Amino acid sequence: MSGIILPPVFDLTGRTALITGASSGLGARFARLLAGAGANVVVAARRTDLLDGLCAGIEAEGRQATAVAMDVADEASVIAGFDAAQERFGTVDTVIANAGMNNEGMIPDLSVEDFDQVMAVNLRGVFLTAREASRRMIAANFRQSGRGRITLISSITAHHISPGVAAYSASKAAVSQFGKVAARDWARQGINVNMILPGYILTDINADWFEEEGGKKQIARFPRKRLMRQEELDVMALYLSSDLSEGITGAEFVIDDGQTL
Ligand code: NAD
Repeated sequence: MSGIILPPVFDLTGRTALITGASSGLGARFARLLAGAGANVVVAARRTDLLDGLCAGIEAEGRQATAVAMDVADEASVIAGFDAAQERFGTVDTVIANAGMNNEGMIPDLSVEDFDQVMAVNLRGVFLTAREASRRMIAANFRQSGRGRITLISSITAHHISPGVAAYSASKAAVSQFGKVAARDWARQGINVNMILPGYILTDINADWFEEEGGKKQIARFPRKRLMRQEELDVMALYLSSDLSEGITGAEFVIDDGQTL
């Protein structure tokens, strides 16, 4: 016998997980994933009608899901969304702050409105989501259980430079730094905050770009000459949501299929 006890597969039974921007792409996948691992899942998006199919699919597999309206850029909306989540499943103990957007443009052409919109969703949205989650976790004395998990979806563009994405990249760099400070602030409150920095994965956020010549050339420059698949984030998302990651906080995980090498 090696004496090493293998960890169990990820079991999120009893957890209440809230995922923002769950109406499409990675957010919808994270919701299905965490529900599949046993969590009660709260899917948050601006238009809840887009979430009906997602919730029905999760419930058809014998799991619990509820949809809440949430515009992450709007303080009152975030608070109301957490209220609704708590009413249905109790205190949210697991968050994936996934909502995000991009307004591309070289800096001379970037309008103030487009810049501010990206910051409002990507940075203020993460701040409001994490702040609301932490307030409730602290009030519920997570210090005792150590079960608070907040995962922020940043991006390789937080550190890696691409042309034409100044607002987006700056917002993601700020998300990563915000997460590290939050992790420090809540280190003794039983709340872990970590960041996933994905490489390029085909979703609504970039589908138009990768249809263009420039997008195709970008893929050709990646060492493996391909986009990532959504499922390549699964294990890290599950790990950071689970009890097994108790000793990890304030960390950034680049998962990019070597795109930045
Ligand atoms: P996506 O466009 O499918 O998903 C983004 C989601 O955020 C959408 O459902 C959108 O409706 C939602 N959203 C936007 N503004 C919102 C707001 N104000 N309130 C609530 N929800 C809002 O794209 P995706 O690729 O699934 O993006 C998910 C996250 O992953 C984003 O934070 C994105 O920056 C990040 N990311 C994506 C890639 C990639 O290549 N796809 C790479 C790195 C990081």
